[in-house]
Amino acid sequence: MTATGPRLAGVMGWPIAHSRSPRLHGHWLKRYGVDGFYVPLGTRPQDFERAFQTLPKLGFQGVNVTLPFKETVLEYATSISDRAALIGAANTLTFRPDGVVAADNTDGYGFIENLRQQVPGWKATRGPALVIGAGGAARSVLSALLSDGAPEIRLVNRSRIRADILRDHFGKRIVPQDWNWKSDLVRDVALIVNATSLGMTGQPELSLNLSAAGPETLVTDIVYQPLETDLLRQARALGLRAVDGLGMLLHQAAPGFEQWFGVRPEVDADLRAAVLGE
Ligand code: NDP
Repeated sequence: MTATGPRLAGVMGWPIAHSRSPRLHGHWLKRYGVDGFYVPLGTRPQDFERAFQTLPKLGFQGVNVTLPFKETVLEYATSISDRAALIGAANTLTFRPDGVVAADNTDGYGFIENLRQQVPGWKATRGPALVIGAGGAARSVLSALLSDGAPEIRLVNRSRIRADILRDHFGKRIVPQDWNWKSDLVRDVALIVNATSLGMTGQPELSLNLSAAGPETLVTDIVYQPLETDLLRQARALGLRAVDGLGMLLHQAAPGFEQWFGVRPEVDADLRAAVLGE
């Protein structure tokens, strides 16, 4: 179906009230004067299939999907990008005029773009990385770091078996290590990433001691609630560069916006302020 009126997109998830995506895309729609709407689509799991299949018929250009649909949505896609296939999950779906439902995963792209924007010229080739966490978000981070040329990724997770599974999946550049050694592993790495939910509001702290990290180490947290986690505060206190996780959320949204609304949007301070409700 070709859109003749306003262009439509949205975000499917359950629950959905907490999602910042409507505010994010709403800011861009206004800023670029696009005739379109981006709406929250709270969808119960048992209703997902029917709702998803109805959206193109209602004129939607595409949707973001969030928890708990990121993996299952691949069953309904007719074209899956290499990175979404490798990660095993998608967050950006486009309904093409020829009926193709294209699935992509832009979380890893958002992760890398955020680092590049904050530290111009940054590349994963700079040295080994330490990644903490082996859940869904960690898979996107690992995939993006590997495709950006990371020579080695030391992977630490509370449940060691999940780190071992990711080594088997992503290959030998992933080196699983013991959870209890994580503070020793900050030595000699170019990048440290918290990809767990630790440090998030209502969760325990990560408890990673950064004092052995070298002065050039870049520290980033994908948690963005709070924006300044204990990990980032500790990094700044030690004089290390620290990048918060909000930029990852902002950058991952850009490819979808471009596909659905036809404008490549910018991630800037105004967008950050709008999403934070400032
Ligand atoms: P998952 O549930 O898939 O994974 C959670 C991870 O956190 C696992 O590695 C888990 O370890 C670890 N973890 C949880 N609780 C503990 C604990 N008490 N002690 C030690 N480890 C723990 O979640 P996601 O990967 O989807 O999300 C992780 C975080 O990333 C969330 O805070 C989410 O908001 C954020 N995120 C941010 C994005 C952004 O754009 N900035 C994008 C996506 C996610 P174990 O395997 O042992 O259970």
